[in-house]
Amino acid sequence: MRNLIIVLGDQLDRESSAFDGFDTARDLVWMAEVEEESRHVPSHMARTVMFLSAMRHFARHVESRGWRCDYVRLDGKGNTQTLADELRRAVKRHRPERLVMTQPGDWRVQEDLLRAAGDLGLDLEIREDRHFYCSLPWFRRYAAGRKQLRLEYFYREMRRLHGVLLEDGVPLGGRWNFDAENRETFGKNGPGLLVPPPVAFPPDEIVRETIALVKRRLPKNPGRTERFDFPVTAGQAEVALTDFIENRLADFGRYQDAMWTAEPYLYHSRLSAAMNLKLLSPRRVVEAAEAAYRAGRAPLAAVEGFIRQVIGWREFVRGIYWTEMPAYAGGNALAADTPLPWFYWTGETPMRCLRETITQTLEYGYAHHIQRLMVTGLYALLLGVRPREIHEWFLAVYVDAVEWVELPNVIGMSQFADGGRMASKPYAASGKYIQRMSDYCTGCPFDPAQTAGPQACPFTTLYWEFLMRNEPALASAPRMELQLRNAARLPASQRQAILDRAREIRSGPLAG
Ligand SMILES: Cc1cc2nc3c(=O)[nH]c(=O)nc-3n(C[C@H](O)[C@H](O)[C@H](O)COP(=O)(O)OP(=O)(O)OC[C@H]3O[C@@H](n4cnc5c(N)ncnc54)[C@H](O)[C@@H]3O)c2cc1C
Repeated sequence: MRNLIIVLGDQLDRESSAFDGFDTARDLVWMAEVEEESRHVPSHMARTVMFLSAMRHFARHVESRGWRCDYVRLDGKGNTQTLADELRRAVKRHRPERLVMTQPGDWRVQEDLLRAAGDLGLDLEIREDRHFYCSLPWFRRYAAGRKQLRLEYFYREMRRLHGVLLEDGVPLGGRWNFDAENRETFGKNGPGLLVPPPVAFPPDEIVRETIALVKRRLPKNPGRTERFDFPVTAGQAEVALTDFIENRLADFGRYQDAMWTAEPYLYHSRLSAAMNLKLLSPRRVVEAAEAAYRAGRAPLAAVEGFIRQVIGWREFVRGIYWTEMPAYAGGNALAADTPLPWFYWTGETPMRCLRETITQTLEYGYAHHIQRLMVTGLYALLLGVRPREIHEWFLAVYVDAVEWVELPNVIGMSQFADGGRMASKPYAASGKYIQRMSDYCTGCPFDPAQTAGPQACPFTTLYWEFLMRNEPALASAPRMELQLRNAARLPASQRQAILDRAREIRSGPLAG
């Protein structure tokens, strides 16, 4: 046999570079379900179902092309549990001349496979991942010599290079960014019955099979599968995209930052898992959104806000991941040393915003960006949770979690553990932010307006303590001046009350 083409669970791209020059007679596609991927962090059951179902569907597609596919099932005979071991067995079976693959998303997986190939005395040809707009060599050149990397400038460059939302080289509407128009809340009455729910894909035979397998094989892993209805094929992903563009894109911008009880998706696209597994191309997504604007079906602020997430943030964090790894994963610029509270795995806490967000996460394997950044991520930042522990939690609990996108969002954006390489300042806020953007504070025993005392919202107490504790580390961050000055102005008695309450929070169930 000539080439053994390795296809990983997040490489389900029909146009993948790994298939260039595929020779039906002499090449073979190899895919393997391995337990290690659900155990190196305790993967949410729905996340494992997402990967296994999409892989099994993809293998069918490969075979339908008339290509040979060696597919190793988790419940198959003699499955060895690690990717490297399974690769060794496959090489023994097929005796290929060469191994070929598209670049993996995870640094860890790439290292393991390179090592395994070396041990086997085989070349592993790693090809560029064409799924992305931005190639890694381009990003490395872009990042070289820049002390800090900022999304806004990278994003403008991407739009210029790829001609997105431009007219004669000028941004449509005369501005690159319409964020100021994208901060609405649902007020007191909430979204009501107005939000069209995303199209659901009830489990087919393959999904039902993998749900049963995951329950049998990984019964102690977190999360539930009862609500699983994500797209798991390229066809379904296309339907999900059309549904989003037609029914929710127009209001995506306005309500991008808003949160509401029992409304997990609101106007978000929930396309991240489909894109990250490469069932859906970001080009397709961006083109569909731009076409909706040009056809007058969605306002520019919504379309620009959405496209910025895809062509901007998504490409930006991938570039950061691959230029900064492996050191990036060990970042801890604020010397955070608190263990992750256990309630992150159960949702059992009286703080209503955290209870709602974590319970929803365990039920759906989904939370939208502001829930991740300004509820679960924020509490970990304020408490000073060890970055590695909160990173592992985020990598475990979302169906869309793959390390190249998760890690920079956690280490860089949410925890400021990279010391400002990615964000100009920490996303630190008090409970008042959550009160403004959601209904979570209604019926919560804590009051976001109080800074200390037993009724004070722990986010608010810890926010002020965070500023006091990290004053030396943050003094040079240009956009922190005002917040630090406000903390310095607090009367001595109030500062002491905050420190006392913070100590109580840290030693009790609110941090346990
Ligand atoms: C702490 C933290 C952890 C995160 N972990 C992940 C992760 O593991 N996987 C993941 O795909 N996203 C992650 N994100 C980014 C973002 O929260 C999710 O992409 C988004 O919530 C997915 O839901 P959606 O598809 O409905 O997104 P929408 O709100 O509809 O956004 C559209 C698309 O833009 C992209 N996008 C939006 N924000 C970001 C961002 N900050 N970085 C990269 N891409 C973005 C996604 O592909 C998303 O599908 C994380 C964010 C934070 C703050």
